[in-house]
Amino acid sequence: MKVFKFGGASIKDANGFRNVCRILESYKQQDLVIIVSALGKTTNALEKIVESYFNRTGNAMAQLVEIKNQHREILELLIPETHSVFDEINNAFVEIDWILEEPPADSYDYIYDQIVSIGEMASTKMLSAFLNENLLPVQWTDARDFIKSDDTYREGKILWDKTKQNCQEKIPAILKNSWVLTQGFIGGTKENLTTTLGREGSDYTAAILAYCLEAESVTIWKDVPGILNADPRYFTEQKLIDELTYKEAIEMTYYGATVIHPKTIKPLQNKNIPLYVKSFLQPLEKGTAIYANVVNEIFTPVLVLKKNQVLISLSPKDFSFIDENNLEKIFHVMAQHRIHFNMMQNAAISFSFCADNDQIRINNLLEELCGTYKILTNLDLDLLTIRHYNNDVINIHTVNRKILMEQKTRQTIQLVMVAEV
Ligand code: ASP
Ligand code: MG
Repeated sequence: MKVFKFGGASIKDANGFRNVCRILESYKQQDLVIIVSALGKTTNALEKIVESYFNRTGNAMAQLVEIKNQHREILELLIPETHSVFDEINNAFVEIDWILEEPPADSYDYIYDQIVSIGEMASTKMLSAFLNENLLPVQWTDARDFIKSDDTYREGKILWDKTKQNCQEKIPAILKNSWVLTQGFIGGTKENLTTTLGREGSDYTAAILAYCLEAESVTIWKDVPGILNADPRYFTEQKLIDELTYKEAIEMTYYGATVIHPKTIKPLQNKNIPLYVKSFLQPLEKGTAIYANVVNEIFTPVLVLKKNQVLISLSPKDFSFIDENNLEKIFHVMAQHRIHFNMMQNAAISFSFCADNDQIRINNLLEELCGTYKILTNLDLDLLTIRHYNNDVINIHTVNRKILMEQKTRQTIQLVMVAEV
C-alpha cells in the first residue's frame, strides 16, 4: 500500500482536480491511501476569518461567503449541480456560520482549529465526489476518527498507540474495495474535538498513516520538481536533489526548508519507509527520493532562508551569569509560551535567540521575562542557514548584509541578518 499526499496547490482550481484524477488513474492497480490539504490558499483565508472574528472587525461573514463561493465555482466546473456534494460542502461551512453567530467564548487556539479544519473537510468531499464520478472508487473517511491527538490546539500531539490501533482496524478493510481518501492536517481528541497538527501538517499526516500502516512508500505531490537546494521564492538558482538521506532531509526541514513539514521524516525513518517528492505537473519525472542508504551522497550547498525573524537578547538585571539556572528559567518560560528557537547563543551575561516573530506569543514571553532580564529586540530580520557551506556561497549571500549573529558548525552556518540594508 502506498500513501499519496496532494497539497493545496495541486487542487487550487478545476484543472488541478482533473490533473490529480489523471495521476491517480495511472495507479489504478495499487492500494492507495490519499491525503489532501485544503484548496489553494484556503487555510490562509480561514485564518483571516479567525482573526476577524476575534478582533470583532465585522468582516468574518463576508470573508466566509467568498470562500464558499470559490469552492462552489470550482465544483460547478467539475460535477453536475444536482450532486449531493453541493449540500455536503454547504454543511461543512455551516459549522463556521454557527461559530461566527456567537461572540468568542473559547480560547483562540481552540476556535482556530474548529474553523481552519473545515478547509480540509470541504476539499476532501470535493475530490472524493469528483474521483467517484470519474469511476475511481474512493471512500471518503474522517481523519478525526483515527488520527488521535491530545488537546494542544493548533499543534496537536499524536497519541500514537490509539492512532495506530484505529488505523489498523479501519483502513485495511476499506482498501479491499476502494482507495481511502482523507484529510491532512487534522486530528481528533479523545472527546472527538477537532485539532490541527501545525501549518502545512498534511505531510505529517501522510507520515503518520504510513507509519501506522507500515506502508511501502509515501509520495508527496508538489508544484516543484522535487527537493531543491534553494527555495525558488528567495533564490535565483536552484538544483534538484535526486536523493537524500533521512538525516539530511531532517536537517533541512529543521532549519526551515518548507518543502516538507519538519515532523514528516521521523516516523518514516523509524519504519524505513521511503519518501518521494514529485511534481504533480510532471508526474513521470523522478523527483527526489529520501531513504536511509543513499549510495553516492552528494553534498550540494543547501540554502534555507527564514524571514520575519526576531532577535532577542536577555541580560540578567542582577548581573548573574547565564548559567544553568538562568537557562533553565528562560527555557521553561519559552516552552510555556510555545516559542521555538531557530538559533541561540550565550555569553557571560547575555543570552540571545532568534525566533519567528509571532507577535502575541513573543510579547507575552517578554512581559514575563522583563522583571528579571534587560531585553534588547531587533525585528524584521532574515535567518539564513547554509548546509555544506563554502566561502564562495557565504560571500554571495551576505554581500551588503549586516550580520547580527552568526554560528558555524562543521556542516552548517547560520546567519541572522538585517533584511534590507
Ligand atoms: N492546509 C493546511 C495548511 O495550509 C495543511 C497543509 O497544507 O498541509 O497549512
Ligand atoms: Mg497547504
